[in-house]
Amino acid sequence: MSQLGPSLKESSGGSKSELPWTKENLPKQLFINNEYVDSKNSKKLELYNPADGSQIATDVALAGDADVEAAVAAAEAAFPAWRKTTATFRRDCLSKLADLIEQHGKQLASLTRISLGAPFGSFGSFEVNMCAEGFRYFAGWTDKFAGESYPQDDGFMKIVRNEPLGVTAGIIPWNGPLGNIGMKAGPALATGNVFILKPSEKTPFSALALGTLIKQAGFPPGVFQIISGDGSTGAIIASHMKIRKVSFTGSTNTGRKIQEAAAKSNLKRVTLELGGKSPAVVFDDCNLDNAVSWCVNAITGNTGQVCFAASRVYVQEGIYEEFSRRYKAAMEERGKAVGHPEEEGTIMGPLVDKSQFERVSGFVERGRSQGTLLTGGGRVGDSGYYIQPTVFTNVPHDAEISRDEIFGPVSVLNSFKTEEEIIKKANDTTFGLMAGVFTQDINKAMRLATEFDSGMVGINCVSLCFLTAPFGGSKESGIGRENAINALRMFTETKTVMINLTY
Ligand code: NAD
Ligand code: MN
Repeated sequence: MSQLGPSLKESSGGSKSELPWTKENLPKQLFINNEYVDSKNSKKLELYNPADGSQIATDVALAGDADVEAAVAAAEAAFPAWRKTTATFRRDCLSKLADLIEQHGKQLASLTRISLGAPFGSFGSFEVNMCAEGFRYFAGWTDKFAGESYPQDDGFMKIVRNEPLGVTAGIIPWNGPLGNIGMKAGPALATGNVFILKPSEKTPFSALALGTLIKQAGFPPGVFQIISGDGSTGAIIASHMKIRKVSFTGSTNTGRKIQEAAAKSNLKRVTLELGGKSPAVVFDDCNLDNAVSWCVNAITGNTGQVCFAASRVYVQEGIYEEFSRRYKAAMEERGKAVGHPEEEGTIMGPLVDKSQFERVSGFVERGRSQGTLLTGGGRVGDSGYYIQPTVFTNVPHDAEISRDEIFGPVSVLNSFKTEEEIIKKANDTTFGLMAGVFTQDINKAMRLATEFDSGMVGINCVSLCFLTAPFGGSKESGIGRENAINALRMFTETKTVMINLTY
């Protein structure tokens, strides 16, 4: 199959492009071996629209044992030829897919929005763009992850190769149903692995719709497959003996289960991108407008359903009153832009579903006795799962709302006196995804950047990420890194070849 090249790609449908999937014609089948097929499992997924609570579907495929088996078999069959394709062939498939995702961005976003509720004008378009750019970024890597060699000073030449693992899988959460795909499938496919994606049971449609585009982009059958399902599907993947790697994004609890399943099965490689309770530390000498605007966007973006949201805000006492006044005002202003995701001008849509609404509301209700409610705390409207941007102040460090990931537009705001004190508090958490520091003093900023026990640090910014830089957390926020060259390392096995030059 080494003749796999541009000509084959053309013949498999290259240039013309249609995306038949709409809200009226939702993709509900599994995408296996480049075909949409019914699930062999009689259990199905039920979906609801968080904008109004209405039912969307009751018959979306939920992949069971036999379905995962079919996908793994197709993937295994596809791997030998795919790993031998030229780097330029893989590059072209990936960048063509990026183009197609961009071209159909609005339609794909609407398929996410129907069950996530993120408005296109804010998180919706960000997410599609991140997906397309992810594929494009990793397309550029296919011929650049070259390996190493060490000199023959001792009579042996050593060549270090980066080889694909084989059948790999991605299990993703509902809060970035498209964005997460480029970050996982991109590096997996670029390095010659075959890849099976399991979207969240809460947001399967935009992922399933990609099947059409995967085929159009020229990926051979079995190389990139999508199987919708819930935790039971994820568990089958995590313990599968022929899947060599799982890249997981989701809660810390599920991450633990996946690592355990991997250990108990075939010791598959596991990358974990988990939860957070990220601090933003705002010093007296900061640019106040800048600090307020980052802190507000950080906790209201995607209705606060973001793993690296700055949910703990610590402000030095000299500017605490002023910051708190402005932060409250800006959160209330954002509260005016809470609304139906299909309406013009909406920045903040609903929470993803009823159970998330009840979970976040529970934290807010219990929070009333843990601290002082500075603003928000209420539901918006009486249908759909809308909630006001909410801030608690004077919250003890060991209170539930100070420690647990809420995953909604809810923050705790407290004052601090000294650098020593705040470093200790910022790090006194089981999480370590992101931390932010706001100050005009570069030495102080760099001291904090060193002291923070987190995978990512923002200086005069917080809650952001780039494809070109490693993404991930320390402690219980995860294991491994996505994006940048780090993602390629996570999807390859290092092989050392030793050549005897002395005989
Ligand atoms: P979740 O852990 O409930 O589910 C994530 C995925 O895992 C879903 O696809 C689900 O079906 C699957 N799953 C559930 N049980 C499983 C099991 N036993 N074995 C295998 N797979 C299983 O997470 P969620 O509620 O969808 O997402 C919210 C969480 O994700 C938050 O904690 C958030 O912080 C985290 N998150 C982290 C990042 C990051 O990059 N660090 C990014 C986004 C979200
Ligand atoms: Mn969950």
